[in-house]
Parts: sequence; C-alpha cells; structure tokens
Amino acid sequence: MYYRPEDPVSYLERCLQKVRELGGPEMVQWDTFIVQDPHAVHPISSENFKPIFHKGGCSGRAAYNQYEHLPPVESQFSIESDSDMTESTGLIQEYDVFDPSRPRPKIIFVIGGPGSGKGTQSNQIASYFGFSCISVGEILRNQLIHHATSSRKWELIAKIIANGELAPPETTIEELKQQFIKQQDAKGFVVDGFPREIGQAFTFEEQIGSPDLVVFLACSSQELRQRLEKRAQEQGRLDDNPHAIERRLETFKHNISLIVKYYQEKGTVVRFDADREEDDIFADISSCVQQRLFPEGMEVPGERGTHLILVE
Ligand code: ADP
Ligand code: MG
Repeated sequence: MYYRPEDPVSYLERCLQKVRELGGPEMVQWDTFIVQDPHAVHPISSENFKPIFHKGGCSGRAAYNQYEHLPPVESQFSIESDSDMTESTGLIQEYDVFDPSRPRPKIIFVIGGPGSGKGTQSNQIASYFGFSCISVGEILRNQLIHHATSSRKWELIAKIIANGELAPPETTIEELKQQFIKQQDAKGFVVDGFPREIGQAFTFEEQIGSPDLVVFLACSSQELRQRLEKRAQEQGRLDDNPHAIERRLETFKHNISLIVKYYQEKGTVVRFDADREEDDIFADISSCVQQRLFPEGMEVPGERGTHLILVE
C-alpha cells in the first residue's frame, strides 16, 4: 500500500466511519479512502531521511559516507525514547534493523501453545547463552499498562488481547524491531512467542531476516489448560480468563501447522516434548542450540567466569 498511516487502527476506524457517513458499503468508490492530506508522511527516500542502516547498502564505513552531509539522526528521532519510536515506527520499515557491517546477532524463535513454557524456556536459553530475551507478549502487555487508558489504539489492542486474539501484525513487528534496535550489541536474541501466524513469519523474514533456529514446544491441550489455570490464580493475567484461554488455544491450533511446515522446509525448526519437567526440556534445548548455532564450540558466561564448551 502506498499510503502507510502512522496509526493503522485509527485509520481503519476513520474508514469505517466514512462508510457509515456515505450510507453503506455500496457507496464506496475506488478512491474513497485515499487521504488527500498535505501533512501526510511522504515515502522515505535518501534525500529526506538518514537511515539507521540502509537495506542492501554497501558494507562498512562506505555505507555511512553517502549520508555524511545530512543532519545527525538524533535530530530526526531518538531511539532512546519509546514513545517517539512508537509514533514514528513507519519510518523505520524500509531499513535494516541490524548494522550490516557486523555479523548479524543469532536469532532463536520459541513457539508453542499458551502455557507450553515459552517464557520459562526462553529466559533460560537467554541467560545460558548470554542472549537477550524478548517476549512479544510481555512487550504488548507493558504497552497496555502504559497506554490503554490514554491511547485509542492501545485501548483497542487491550480488547483484542483480552478476547484471546492476536494483536495487529504491524504493531507486533514494529515493537520487535524497536527492541532489536535498542540492543545493537546483543550477540543473540531469543524471541518468545513469535511468530503466531504465518504472515508474521513472512514479514519478519522480509524486513529483518531468517531465524537461526525455531524451538517448538509441543504440549498436550490438557496440560496447557492445567498450567494456564494455575498461572491465572498466581499472576492474574489479562488473557488468562477462561474465554480467552479457549480462544488462544483455538488460534494456536489453527496457525501452528503452517508455521511449523514453513520452518521445516527451511530445516530450522526442532520439536521438543514440552509435557515434561522444565529442566529436562531445557537440557534438550540447550544441547540442540549448541549443536546448531555453535558447532565449533562456544564461550558460555558461567558463574565462575567464561568457559568454552566443545560440542562433540
Ligand atoms: P507461555 O509463555 O508459553 O505461555 P509460561 O512460560 O508462562 O508459558 O508457562 C506457563 C505456566 O506453566 C507458568 O505458570 C509456568 O510456571 C508453568 N510451566 C512452564 N513450563 C512448565 C513445565 N515444563 N512443567 C510445568 N509447568 C510449567
Ligand atoms: Mg509467555
């Protein structure tokens, strides 16, 4: 779409409003929703914008030389500020999230049903391998705490999540990108709870790259329900209510086979029996990560300093 509204949810709301004002869907013309707004954001070009890292750009210093005459990036927006970035997220869509002159950090996706232990295992993988852990669910829940009463967009997303459905894909991807940009020096990322549907996998690949490994936590529905009921009593999460639990299980079952099939064809997904004890699952995952991502051996930061693990 040529026109990329900064706030797609309110843009869609305005479109629906317009249809009502016109008298119904039959009154919609091909140009009904084209906004003739003199203040609309123009498409990004190297003339008017200094990118963070230009996609497909030249490597090393040369990538930056061509932009040296432009004002510093700080004057356009600050990557330190969450709210600034949230408002200007559209601006970073066309650009590499990672510095192309450095090896890309490793990326592990952890997928599985609600309650399969994604959060539990992701945190363990991240702390064992010295990676950064990003929980998409937690980022969204945090945003809701801060903005659900003050922003129409987050108010709507709160309703979507409380109903057990998926947040809009562009919001999810942009929140993820901001986390990557903020943590440029991380050697790797464990992304907990992503992708949740195949479209997210495609968009991630197009805009960021392919994951090095996809950990699939396979857990029985009965076990998932029991764990979620227990978590609801312990944590009282917005989406751990009985209706949302059923919706989330349905959504998960509907989406998981395509996601797994897609990564199976790429040879990046590994399935783990997640009905077992946490430690047993983690033992299997950690040895798999070592073999797949660090076949030459790796330095693991341990309690008694960094030590080298050699994989047979
Ligand atoms: P997810 O992030 O996939 O929704 P969590 O990591 O939050 O799952 O785990 C859901 C609940 O199940 C939590 O209360 C957690 O303590 C518990 N849990 C996680 N892994 C296991 C496991 N292997 N066995 C039993 N309970 C688990
Ligand atoms: Mg979780």
